[in-house]
Amino acid sequence: MKTLRSYIDGRWHEASDGFATLVNPSTEEPVARASSHGVDFAAALAWARQKGGPALRKLTFAERGELLKAMSGALRENRDELLELSRINNGTTKPDGNFDVGGASGTLAYYAGLARGLGDRTFLAEGDGVQLARDESFWGQHVLVPRHGVAVFINAFNFPAWGFAEKAACALAAGMPVIVKPATATALVAERCVEIVLEAGILPDGALQLVCGGTGDLLDRLGPQDVLAFTGSADTARHFRRHARLTGYNVRLNVEADSLNAAVLGPDVGADSTTMALFLKDVCREITQKTGQKCTAVRRILAPAERLGSVRESLVERLGAVVAGNPAADGVTMGPLATADQLEDAVAGAAELMAEAAPVLGAGRRVDGTGSPAGKGYFFAPTLLEAADARRLEAVHRREVFAPLATLMPYDGSAAEAAELVALGGGTLVTSVYCDDDAWVRRFLGAGGNATGRLYVGSESSAPAAPGSGVALPQTLHGGPGRAGGGEELGGLNGLKLYMQRVALQGSRVMLEAVAGSD
Ligand code: NAP
Repeated sequence: MKTLRSYIDGRWHEASDGFATLVNPSTEEPVARASSHGVDFAAALAWARQKGGPALRKLTFAERGELLKAMSGALRENRDELLELSRINNGTTKPDGNFDVGGASGTLAYYAGLARGLGDRTFLAEGDGVQLARDESFWGQHVLVPRHGVAVFINAFNFPAWGFAEKAACALAAGMPVIVKPATATALVAERCVEIVLEAGILPDGALQLVCGGTGDLLDRLGPQDVLAFTGSADTARHFRRHARLTGYNVRLNVEADSLNAAVLGPDVGADSTTMALFLKDVCREITQKTGQKCTAVRRILAPAERLGSVRESLVERLGAVVAGNPAADGVTMGPLATADQLEDAVAGAAELMAEAAPVLGAGRRVDGTGSPAGKGYFFAPTLLEAADARRLEAVHRREVFAPLATLMPYDGSAAEAAELVALGGGTLVTSVYCDDDAWVRRFLGAGGNATGRLYVGSESSAPAAPGSGVALPQTLHGGPGRAGGGEELGGLNGLKLYMQRVALQGSRVMLEAVAGSD
């Protein structure tokens, strides 16, 4: 069985005890083990701060962009191997694995282009300058400079490749060195991604380190110039928000947590319209892609009361055609949940939701999977619940079931009620509305835009190119208010700001333009 290693202080570190076992979720066979016992976290931080940071800060944005381009290329060249690792450790089908692995190289490529476009500068002017006195002898201009610390990433189990790459793209472009800690249960892909990048000799020493296993005393050593970028559950986020060292030193913390995303069918959408077809296609994909283990998956579906029956019928037909099983077997279209813990949590969550919403498809339980031995594998068939009154529900708006499960509910067709019901989820990463009536969408944005990080509008005019609401594109913001964590990632240049210090430069206009204009 493979032993995953950590890459610390310029060396691969292999632990000798404290191992967690990683398994193939389709067969429950062990595939690797991981432990960070014995990792010297003080040395890791020193190497990043003293070597990696200075080396990156010496580079211009354009030069950092070249590093990202090479990283993207290296991952792309090894795509098939990474997809295979994803299958055996995350239980992904090829398209689902590629959503993670291809998403990683695509995001790096996007930020490579963005950074190269920033040219030969090492910091950024932000917005326009502003006159602060009667004339231009006193002027203001915001600039962004790289923080002189370490960017620590603690990532969720569901995106071992993209989770690493989307954060690393922004931190490295901004000029900060990285220590990445993937979720232990699915660290196989992340370990290989880091190994590929290191083997290719792309990055300066100290720019990238990897922790496979627990974080030891790493967090107790972070300081005021460091950043902790976390993706995972709201519970773990709460632990970090209360962490004495993080709060005591004002370590910058970004949280990407869970989210009860909603899809809303507009009242104008006809049964045979393009927009209805898009709604059904998107919603089914957003329930079942990656076996529902996406922070952006659709968990709640709102349809005008008079359309509820036909929407239910169509969703049941489509979701019923999904074949859950071992992705190695022919005909399988959806893999298992990633771990035994995830299955247990999903079954418990489904039971909680089924106390207030009735199943119309699936039973919210483990099933046997096609191509896997009976009783083995963490399979969970697509499950659709339905409830008559969305306002009377509590668990449906509170409990994230990280599995292919969603609840269908009626609403009165008004943008105001749709927004009100979506907001019961406490803040989403993405809300999707399917509608061809711009006035209705405008009303929805006004009433409910505050409760989401992204509003995805599916319509006849977007149908030819719309990728689905679950895709976190690097050009636009990823993150959401409230229970979604309140964080912000990606969004083009916005993504770099987490890793930079904003400085309000004040002085004469002529001086500031000379300083901030280019360097
Ligand atoms: P999790 O249990 O919170 O774990 C996330 C990460 O935190 C793992 O790397 C875990 O390490 C680490 N961790 C947990 N407790 C820690 C502690 N006390 N100190 C240091 N590290 C700690 O979440 P998960 O089960 O992996 O991921 C599923 C959740 O992530 C879902 O709720 C999903 O919605 C959310 N998610 C959000 C986004 C987003 O962008 N908003 C994206 C993906 C997933 P170990 O694995 O070693 O325990």
